[in-house]
Amino acid sequence: MISLKTSKEISKMSDACKISANALKVAQEYMKPGVSTKEIDDAIRKYILSTGAKPNFLGYGGFPASACISINNQVIHGIPSSKVLLKEGDIVSVDVGAAYGGFNGDNAYTFAVGEISDEAKNLLRVTEECLYKAIEQAKVGNRIGDIGYACQQYAESFGYGVVKKFVGHGVGRNLHEDPEVPNFGKPGRGVRLAAGMTLAIEPMINLVGEDVKVLSDGWTVETVSGSISAHFEHTIVITDNGPKILTKV
Ligand code: MG
Repeated sequence: MISLKTSKEISKMSDACKISANALKVAQEYMKPGVSTKEIDDAIRKYILSTGAKPNFLGYGGFPASACISINNQVIHGIPSSKVLLKEGDIVSVDVGAAYGGFNGDNAYTFAVGEISDEAKNLLRVTEECLYKAIEQAKVGNRIGDIGYACQQYAESFGYGVVKKFVGHGVGRNLHEDPEVPNFGKPGRGVRLAAGMTLAIEPMINLVGEDVKVLSDGWTVETVSGSISAHFEHTIVITDNGPKILTKV
């Protein structure tokens, strides 16, 4: 069931979303060679708790950390570890959310560690552009398929692979709500979009091929091709005046 939020609910939710966005700013400070992904996770958790919010990924489905940190060929759901140290040239997806006042925020950004290859730079740029092209379609009268189509068309025009096995989602009182928000689709198909819908839109784009696999830790998702992958996410609300990004500081 899709829940439409009132303006009062949206204003509460935007608090959770601002904290989520700030958590990514905290992560950004740690994007240096030699830093472990556990250090980043610790800093994020401390920041979120300091605001009075809760890290909503921690314990979700048994996930053992406050952020998913996925490097290079890892797509999503990487588990932070003291054994994983960032290196010059890495790309690092940090996905994090906060629960506050009964509502959830969810967002992700893929950072560069030092100087990265042109190939990686282009993938990051295009994946972030995919996110904004998808968000533009999140308007009253459109359908879910319009969001996915915009993302897929753009990514595939560069020869990249759009991950289909994992998708975006509704978000609100729960971290994951209806509807699913695929990063691919057909225009004019799927759920009709309405004002008050709150969605986490999150393109996951591989340099080569769309196939992904889950590792034996039960969480980490990697590209089957071994190529790098990028991931950007915002929580948005659909209003009568178009989409509004909530995970902005
Ligand atoms: Mg999400």
